[in-house]
Amino acid sequence: MMLGRKQLLIDGEWRDASDGKTQPVVNPATEEVIAEVASATAEDVDAAVRAARAALEGPWGKMSARERGRLVYKLGERLMAQADDMARLETLHNGKPITESRHVEIPMAAECLQYFAGWADKVHGETVPVKGGQLVYTLREPVGVVAAIVPWNFPLLIAVWKVAPALAMGNTVILKPASQTPLTALALGEMATELGFPAGVLNVITGSGSTTGQAIVDHPGINKIAFTGDTSTGKGIMRSAADTLKHITLELGGKSPNIVFADADLDAAVRGATMGIFYGKGEVCAAGSRLLVEASIKDEFLTKVAERTKKMVAGDPMNPKTRFGAISSKTQLERVLQYVETAKNEGATLLAGGERVDIGTGKGYFMQPTVFGNVTVDMTIAKEEIFGPVLAAIEFADVDDAIEKANASIYGLASGVWTSDIKKAHYVASKLKAGTVWINTYNVYDTAAAFGGYKQSGFGREMSMHALEYYTQVKTVWVDLAQ
Ligand code: NAP
Ligand code: MG
Repeated sequence: MMLGRKQLLIDGEWRDASDGKTQPVVNPATEEVIAEVASATAEDVDAAVRAARAALEGPWGKMSARERGRLVYKLGERLMAQADDMARLETLHNGKPITESRHVEIPMAAECLQYFAGWADKVHGETVPVKGGQLVYTLREPVGVVAAIVPWNFPLLIAVWKVAPALAMGNTVILKPASQTPLTALALGEMATELGFPAGVLNVITGSGSTTGQAIVDHPGINKIAFTGDTSTGKGIMRSAADTLKHITLELGGKSPNIVFADADLDAAVRGATMGIFYGKGEVCAAGSRLLVEASIKDEFLTKVAERTKKMVAGDPMNPKTRFGAISSKTQLERVLQYVETAKNEGATLLAGGERVDIGTGKGYFMQPTVFGNVTVDMTIAKEEIFGPVLAAIEFADVDDAIEKANASIYGLASGVWTSDIKKAHYVASKLKAGTVWINTYNVYDTAAAFGGYKQSGFGREMSMHALEYYTQVKTVWVDLAQ
């Protein structure tokens, strides 16, 4: 399937890159080029910034908050109305099962738009009780021109986590999707244009991180960068953004512990451990990639985890029955398989998977879901984010040992605790250094619940009322009342 050539959305118009260059988009399940998208130059980024600024000072800034909210709400409605097409696009460029795209990602993105649409006219300033003779009130204003730079694992959802609160709070946006997965972001831009969002409110710019992304980060006309991606990229963005002192929020990598105590409902924990790592092919920032198992149940538990893992077979992502799709790219597949080799070399025990697979087409970047036992905290697969379907199982002795091992990471995005003892569950939750703790469940999200990192998993929060803080700034107004 060839979707043709896609242009940049700048100032409500579709245009080629200023130098005419394009880059290919590949379907990881078939290795076919499915589209060519424009590679935006620094000049294109500048045009987008000027358009976003003009919209901010013009029609968007003048629109009432309620009207703005209504438009954002309609964008959510439109997304649901086109959910089948959007899900197909998402699966085509990412390789995730169509069932996940259609029934999880697209509906969550639509819901996120509608959730933040509701906040548009409910966030406001206050009057402040200061010393006598003065009236002080605050205005809660947008930050300005917001750039959203997003990765390839949940291409539309992670974009919407940024676009929705940004637009609802009155900012204008420049969205840069990942090179591998630009199609749904472009489609979102098209929907916004058709719905009558003023030109320049939502610009969608495709192109490489090193050229387009870097030009965004360096542009003095951008007020804020909302980034999700690799920790090393995030650090680079923070360094570059320092020159123009942009606001930044960073959602970065993770190496999240999923802790199973001997007193847990073990069948539920087995399902939670496998779904926690294998949902989305393990290309999930919050994936429960470190399975911490209490020593007394380790063998029994890992046998069950390995059995369940072996039943998960990679298949054609477009087949509605498929639950485990294609790894997102050749580079990523090679990277993940390299980690499998490293784990073997460092002495971990392979309990399931570990190989590249052919789904019968001779094409596509497929591999088996993989489980390693006898992993120790100093091994590479216990420390580094693999961002693929590889589970590292580590044993622990008791509650204190579990907490210590869980926190022995530079990351702190998420965590899971499986136990039937409520005291233990909440005690451990209080001790974990992570932005999310799931108790007797894993990988559940809701737009009303905040998500974000501790430690080197980044800062800022997405979704929930807490995200509003990161897309607004407070202006204090003093009025002399002295008679
Ligand atoms: P990435 O290389 O950091 O890319 C993320 C985005 O940044 C892409 O749009 C990329 O463009 C762009 N980019 C790359 N270099 C840039 C630069 N110098 N300046 C500006 N933008 C730049 O990450 P990825 O490989 O797409 O995604 C995998 C990583 O993301 C994993 O480590 C994962 O943990 C993390 N992640 C975290 C979360 C979270 O919520 N915490 C969610 C998802 C993923 P190109 O695509 O053109 O390179
Ligand atoms: Mg990358």
